Amino acid sequence: MKLEVKELCKNYGRKEALKSVSFSLTPGIYGLLGPNGAGKSTLISILTGNLKADSGKVCLDGEDVNKMGEAYRKILGYMPQQQALYPAFRVGAFLDYMAALKGMEKKEARAQIPAILEMVELSEYAGSKIKTLSGGMKQRLLIAQAILNNPDIIVLDEPTAGLDPKQRIAVRNLISRIAVNKIVLIATHVVSDVEFIAKELILMGEGKVLRKARKDEILNHM
Ligand code: ADP
Ligand code: ADP
Repeated sequence: MKLEVKELCKNYGRKEALKSVSFSLTPGIYGLLGPNGAGKSTLISILTGNLKADSGKVCLDGEDVNKMGEAYRKILGYMPQQQALYPAFRVGAFLDYMAALKGMEKKEARAQIPAILEMVELSEYAGSKIKTLSGGMKQRLLIAQAILNNPDIIVLDEPTAGLDPKQRIAVRNLISRIAVNKIVLIATHVVSDVEFIAKELILMGEGKVLRKARKDEILNHM
C-alpha cells in the first residue's frame, strides 16, 4: 500500500497555504510536525477529502483518490479535534451514528463496536453522555470512531490536545496499538507525541515540506 501526495498547492486568497507539497507514505506511523500556520490542517483536510486542492493530487496505489470516491472514504479513518464531538450524545449512540455515516450496515457496526470500545478502554461508558467524559476519554472516543470499519489509513489531528502527560502516554500507546499494518499520519506540534512511536517525521514550514526522514536522523540533529 502506498499513499502519494503529489505537488499539492492550495491558496486562500493571496495566502499560499501549500506550495507544491509532495511525499509518499507506506504502512507505519508518521509524525507531521510544524509550527502554527505551516499548512498541516490544510494538508490534512485535502488528504481526508474535506477540502479540494487548487492543483496536484493524492493517489492510493496509483489511483487518484478523488476518483475513488466512496471507496476511499471507507478505507480512511480520521480523528478530528474535540470540537467534532456531540456533547449530548451517548458514547454508544455516537459510534452507531459515525458507523452509519461511514456507510456501515447496522449489523456490522453492532458487531464491531464492543471490541472497539474495549480497545479504547471505554466499555463501561457506552451509556454515558459524551459531556461527562474526561478529556482523555474524549480523545479515546475520537480514536474509536476513526478505527470503525478497520481503515487502512488513519489521520489524526492533534490527538493529545488538552491532555496531561499521563493521558498523553495513554493516547500514544493506543495509537501504536491500532497502527499495525496501517498508514498512520499524526499531525501535532508536540514532538513527544511522535518521537517514540513514529518511524518517520515530516517537517512542514510555510506551506512546504522542509524535511522527511527517519525519526533518529531528524531528532539527533535538533
Ligand atoms: P497549521 O495547521 O499548520 O497551523 P493551516 O493549514 O491551518 O496551518 O494554515 C496555513 C496558512 O493558511 C496559515 O497562514 C493560515 O493563516 C492560512 N489559512 C488557513 N485557513 C485559512 C482560511 N480559511 N482562510 C484564509 N487563510 C487561511
Ligand atoms: P487516561 O486517558 O489516562 O485513562 P482519563 O482522563 O481518560 O485518563 O481517565 C482517568 C480515569 O478516571 C479513567 O480510568 C476513568 O475511569 C476515570 N474517569 C475520568 N472521567 C470520568 C467520568 N466523567 N466519569 C467516571 N470516571 C471518570
